[in-house]
Amino acid sequence: MKDYYLVDYHLHTPRCGHAWGELDDFVRRALDLGLKEIGFADHFPLLHLRDESLSMGLEEVPIYVEEIYELKGRFPEIDIKLGIEADYVPEVLEELNSLLERYPFDYVFGSIHYVDGWGFDDPRYLGGYEKWKIIDLYRRYFQILGDAAETGMFDILAHPDLVKKFGYRPEEDLEDIYLTCLERVARAGIAVEINTSGLRKPAGEIYPALPFMRICRELGIGITLGSDAHEPADVGRDFQLAVSLMEETGYEDIILFEKRNPRPQPLKLS
Ligand SMILES: [Zn+2]
Ligand SMILES: [Zn+2]
Repeated sequence: MKDYYLVDYHLHTPRCGHAWGELDDFVRRALDLGLKEIGFADHFPLLHLRDESLSMGLEEVPIYVEEIYELKGRFPEIDIKLGIEADYVPEVLEELNSLLERYPFDYVFGSIHYVDGWGFDDPRYLGGYEKWKIIDLYRRYFQILGDAAETGMFDILAHPDLVKKFGYRPEEDLEDIYLTCLERVARAGIAVEINTSGLRKPAGEIYPALPFMRICRELGIGITLGSDAHEPADVGRDFQLAVSLMEETGYEDIILFEKRNPRPQPLKLS
């Protein structure tokens, strides 16, 4: 993997209430793996509900920012970015936007963890799946993903097909649903994340699925790479497989971010 420019843009910290380990150990793991850049992107406070097991509190955001800057200062041998993962919840969008603008983030992930108020990726609310015909759930999820892209508030869509997390999959073909959604994403000009954490979930595969990734490529949508590590051992996890999917779909670049400006970087170092 040494001849690839690999980055892990999706690292969490214990501030979110469900991640473990010292920040230094996340960095050391990345250095051991030879990653060129990492970015912390912990969960921004949920504004529609308060749950300390899901995100940091509002008062913690400035401390988080300071912690990452302090880390940058101590590890000049690797480029450390300040990112954040923010939930797309239509009811609180304006408030979210004005809060995000206060901090010097290098990039903002937009995440769909809620479908019409239901936390579908939370194992506590698995019962919700019984209320849906699975194809309708997928249709709704990808509609919301397109909505999130069009807000202009996010740089990257995190784990773009998270709806498959628990392995609920429709029998129907998803191409049309993907295409309708991704045309909106392409028009919005934002990137999507290749996120290896799906391999560690019942879904058993990378987010997004290969057919989704192929359409991204056809539409010229940029990609970033992340492990969604909630502990140091998961930094850079399964990146070999991510790289082979990127190559299989014809991606030659990944997108890097600095102060919310995207820049393509050739994946393969010559
Ligand atoms: Zn998390
Ligand atoms: Zn997430």
